[in-house]
Amino acid sequence: MSDAAASRRFSIGLTGGIGSGKTTVADMLQARGAALVDTDLIAHQLTAPGGAAIPAIRAQFGDAFLAADGAMDRVRMREYVFTEPTAKARLEAVLHPLIRSETERAAAEAKGTYLVFVVPLLVESGSWKQRVSRVLVVDCSEQTQIRRVMSRSGLSESQVRAIMAAQASRLERLAAADDVIDNDGDALALVPQVDRLHALYASLAAAHD
Ligand code: ADP
Repeated sequence: MSDAAASRRFSIGLTGGIGSGKTTVADMLQARGAALVDTDLIAHQLTAPGGAAIPAIRAQFGDAFLAADGAMDRVRMREYVFTEPTAKARLEAVLHPLIRSETERAAAEAKGTYLVFVVPLLVESGSWKQRVSRVLVVDCSEQTQIRRVMSRSGLSESQVRAIMAAQASRLERLAAADDVIDNDGDALALVPQVDRLHALYASLAAAHD
């Protein structure tokens, strides 16, 4: 654990590749008493109509990147970010400080036995590892990821593979993990794994806080 994490409330950084089962596991931990802070949800709210990031997005990219309802035009932005080399960094420069401050605000308000930050790109974004007490990786094979995302989203296999290629590899994630949940099996197979980790986290939180 880093000094920064040690001086704060006990917290878990929950991550995993697209379709690995992060949301499923996070919901199960929440049902057992953990408090969730979902960074994807926060990013979504920041770029929704009236969101705190909208004025900066308009200033940086122009009205063309706002949809009729005033939200960021996600489809257009995604395409632009893929084709324009500097756009990703510019968008992140707008979003990341806002996501960080909003995340800290949500964490300060959260109740629960311990905190779970759900961070899809935790391994990719370095500083998160310092923020949390432990990293929990939800792991499954690439074939399982592809099958789940295709059936959930209607994306093609090559589209799913392109998203996966932009994320850390399975091995990179596992190397960053303190704890791993194997989610290649059915949903029932998650229950004993989540129960065991929840008990561990509750006792570590009691000793820490
Ligand atoms: P992530 O948040 O990592 O993208 P989700 O938790 O949303 O992943 O899971 C992706 C999809 O796979 C969802 O539709 C979810 O219901 C399903 N899913 C997750 N874990 C399992 C499992 N063990 N068995 C069957 N379906 C699962």
